[in-house]
Amino acid sequence: MYVTMITPECAPVAKVGGLADVVFGLSREMEIRGNPVEIILPKYDCMRYDHIWGLDITFQDLWVPWFDGAIHCSVWFGFVHGRKCFFIEPHSNDNFFNRGCFYGQQDDAMRFAFFSKAAMEFLLQSGKHPDILHCHDWQTGLVPVMLYEQYQHLGMTHPRVCYTIHNFKHQGVTGTDVLQATRLDRPDYFMHPDRLQDDANHTGLNIMKGGIVYSNFVTTVSPRHAWEAHHTDQGHGLSHSLHVHESKFGGVLNGVDYEVWNPETDPYIPFHYNGNDLEGKYADKGALRERLLLRSDFKPIVSFIGRLDPQKGLDLVRHALFYSLDVGAQFILLGSSPDHGINNYFRHLKEHLNDNEDCHIEVGFEEELAHLIYAGSDIVVVPSIFEPCGLTQMISLRYGTVPVVRAAGGLADTIFDKDYSDHLPEHRNGFVFDQADNAGLESALARAVGLWFDYPDDFQKLMKTGMGYDYSWNYPGGHYLNIYDLIREK
Ligand code: ADP
Repeated sequence: MYVTMITPECAPVAKVGGLADVVFGLSREMEIRGNPVEIILPKYDCMRYDHIWGLDITFQDLWVPWFDGAIHCSVWFGFVHGRKCFFIEPHSNDNFFNRGCFYGQQDDAMRFAFFSKAAMEFLLQSGKHPDILHCHDWQTGLVPVMLYEQYQHLGMTHPRVCYTIHNFKHQGVTGTDVLQATRLDRPDYFMHPDRLQDDANHTGLNIMKGGIVYSNFVTTVSPRHAWEAHHTDQGHGLSHSLHVHESKFGGVLNGVDYEVWNPETDPYIPFHYNGNDLEGKYADKGALRERLLLRSDFKPIVSFIGRLDPQKGLDLVRHALFYSLDVGAQFILLGSSPDHGINNYFRHLKEHLNDNEDCHIEVGFEEELAHLIYAGSDIVVVPSIFEPCGLTQMISLRYGTVPVVRAAGGLADTIFDKDYSDHLPEHRNGFVFDQADNAGLESALARAVGLWFDYPDDFQKLMKTGMGYDYSWNYPGGHYLNIYDLIREK
């Protein structure tokens, strides 16, 4: 199976969150199984160019039709830790991808409509005929629309589309000018409830809805979240479309790339370890404290790593910080947001706690530091309001760090409470709470910290159980291959 990923993110070069990890990890798994994969990305100015090898122009003159004219692009090729990546660089005054950030621009809908159009033109003009186009999130929702409404008629009859929704909250609701820009035109045809018209705002064009309607198969990133999106308000207005297309919709739990996230080999942690020998983990805890100037004391380290988005339960994150300090633990926060107000809020908190040697707040995106925090912490909190899958809890397990999570989406699918679970005791791997409030969080965090202080052997057993879990791409990789097979056979 020849797969082309069309995506706004790929770890570690263009990473905002889990989508980037998924594209890299799934692509690697597909290749291990003998399926060639190519990845098409925008050529952002703010990428981690130090993780791209052999970057060079491979397609000099790509002219992408846009409004009444065309935009000249160069397509670059390079290897990202072994993955074959193409980067689209437009030469126009719009400067679509030279903004110093990935998202959060006023013209995001136009930027990624252009990217989708350019990716299709690149496939057409370079004569590529992948079996599968695997698209991700709203940014690429127009790809299947363009495939079936435009490019099929230009001879691109071979590919089938798998569309993965990592987050229903951002759907790319925009105006009909995107139709003119991409030459899809025909607003009366597309702005129809069965096609791209937004269900809530009838003058809005919903790009993610287009992805759902036109793709051959739609996935979201955990079985539980597939149900939530279909049957609760977590579909953020798309539940009806999911219902109409339910026969081609399902949840596939994300995997974690166990080569990238491996405490036995991780180049970003000073001491390596595994489930049989945890000495390195305790040494990493010391290194983490040293790096962040935390005092060395008989205390567990509780951490939060994630985007500072209201979805992540930011009030609960703040409460987890103060509660941890109250019960004698240390707390580390690593996170950032495209919203300056949110970043500033946490920067103020950092100033306020500046002299506290049991607490560190780092506002920013720091891949290397994240690895050290996973390794050096005892407990990770993930108090999300909603969480389509969540990778942080699975990465934590791999690093022997006990997750404390709210029972939402993929968190509920992957973490089983030590004391209250219908899983066998030997399969329980963390602490879970239901209510998204302070009391709910405390009910789980208190048990985790209490176990660390009072029953260290039991705590260590829990760590080892988590490390023994297999949340690699092995199983979900097979699942995606089945989906690819299914839509090729139809
Ligand atoms: P989401 O996709 O909602 O952002 P996930 O839990 O699926 O959340 O994935 C988050 C990924 O991004 C993990 O690999 C996590 O380590 C990483 N990450 C999030 N915030 C940061 C940050 N500030 N610095 C470094 N890595 C981060």
